[in-house]
Amino acid sequence: SPARSSVIIVGAGISGLSAAKVLVENGVEDIIILEASERVGGRIRKQEFGGVSVELGAGWVAGVGGTKINPVWDLAKQANLRTCFSDYSNARYNIYDPSGKIFPSGIAADSYQKAVESAMQKLKNEEEKNDLDGTKNTDQPCSPETPIELAIDFILHDFEMAEVEPISTYVDFGEKEFLVADERGYEHLLYKMAEKFLFTSDGKISDSRLKLNKVVRELQHSRNGVLVTTEDDCTYQANYLILSASIGVLQSDLISFKPPLPRWKLEAINELDVIVYTKIFLKFPYKFWPAGAEKEFFMYAHERRGYYTFWQHMENAYPGSNILVVTLTNGESKRVEAQSDQETLKEAMDVLRKMFGPNIPDASDILVPRWWNNRFQRGSYSNYPIYVNQQLVDNIKAPVGRIFFTGEHTSEKFNGYVHGGYLSGIDTGNALLDEIKESQRKNLIQPFLV
Ligand code: FAD
Repeated sequence: SPARSSVIIVGAGISGLSAAKVLVENGVEDIIILEASERVGGRIRKQEFGGVSVELGAGWVAGVGGTKINPVWDLAKQANLRTCFSDYSNARYNIYDPSGKIFPSGIAADSYQKAVESAMQKLKNEEEKNDLDGTKNTDQPCSPETPIELAIDFILHDFEMAEVEPISTYVDFGEKEFLVADERGYEHLLYKMAEKFLFTSDGKISDSRLKLNKVVRELQHSRNGVLVTTEDDCTYQANYLILSASIGVLQSDLISFKPPLPRWKLEAINELDVIVYTKIFLKFPYKFWPAGAEKEFFMYAHERRGYYTFWQHMENAYPGSNILVVTLTNGESKRVEAQSDQETLKEAMDVLRKMFGPNIPDASDILVPRWWNNRFQRGSYSNYPIYVNQQLVDNIKAPVGRIFFTGEHTSEKFNGYVHGGYLSGIDTGNALLDEIKESQRKNLIQPFLV
């Protein structure tokens, strides 16, 4: 017979864990957390590479230094995580052309200005399209054409849109970003948090309520409760369920719902974009790039947008590690996920040789994360359309009967970020507590009938 609990939480990323924390700390202790993979953390994930610990998923605490404190910055402090300040905005002054020269800062600044203006024009046009009473605008934004314009367009749109539209993370918590550079990984912050409400020993979670390698495949639900079936044919029954699987997973067919999710829910799920963001790590026998804080980020102006454009050296994080990181997104990410790492290594080396000359050494190792092909992720994070209507936001997080939704994608203000995941878990935990109290008040809880 199925294992029983009050609440099942699907997923042990930061949102599932913060939801669990709210429940346990408020007296709902008989929970079960079902996690598909062999570890907690989800998209917070470190891996040993080239002698140090690198972050395959979230790398920065974004939104620091403002008047309000980012709760994840607080968690990082409590966990005593080692971090270092990163300044993306230098990247535009370190753009290499195919002959290995850096574009003069004047040209870079002009191109940047042009890109910002064009992005603002695009936004304005969108806004007018959305505003029924608006007068039609005929100004067309200019499109990037030259390699430097393409490179700048890429970092503006894929990294720095804060310069164009206000982004809640930076408005609320401040504009600074700190890279986590800690051998224990970003995930150490999760273990620290878990200590407060789960049994842990030696920095590991040893609580029998956490079940790893449990892939939820079927979710039966009714007005009386939920029944979950996992890939290894275990069943779990509960009054309520919190589902923290990513937007990419919800768009896939990994989990089947019985009865199916209502149309309004499916439409909302399908309306969000999934961003794929890939950090490729390369280890070298020695350093051949300029070091220094203002050189941390550099770019290559390729005629193909987003083709090995955005680079970072890890000398600030781990001096002497001789590691470079190149970030690809979306189409380029999917393309490299589908090819062998040796092909990717060759492509990356060809670009590096354009920047630094033919005599640089080959990388001795490469690490290519595959978030798109990971069936428990199907992408890196969610992206809301620029003009979202409130209905979409409400529908994404609204419960369906006894299934409550959480995760970074359900955070209206902070979707796409670790703090979005953390805060959404707290919200969902509290919403479920209210529901439990309300039904206890009405004495409506039925004993486990599905
Ligand atoms: P997840 O961490 O995905 O947790 C969901 C869990 O559910 C996973 O553990 C998954 O295995 C599990 N699961 C899925 N399906 C099932 C199933 N069927 N059964 C059981 N379990 C299931 N954010 C920042 O703030 N700063 C950054 O610098 C940053 N960079 C990023 C870079 C990359 C490459 C990526 C991928 C993400 C980045 N993010 C960053 C975003 C951040 O990592 C996420 O927003 C956050 O970690 C999401 O947490 P979550 O709990 O919502 O989801």
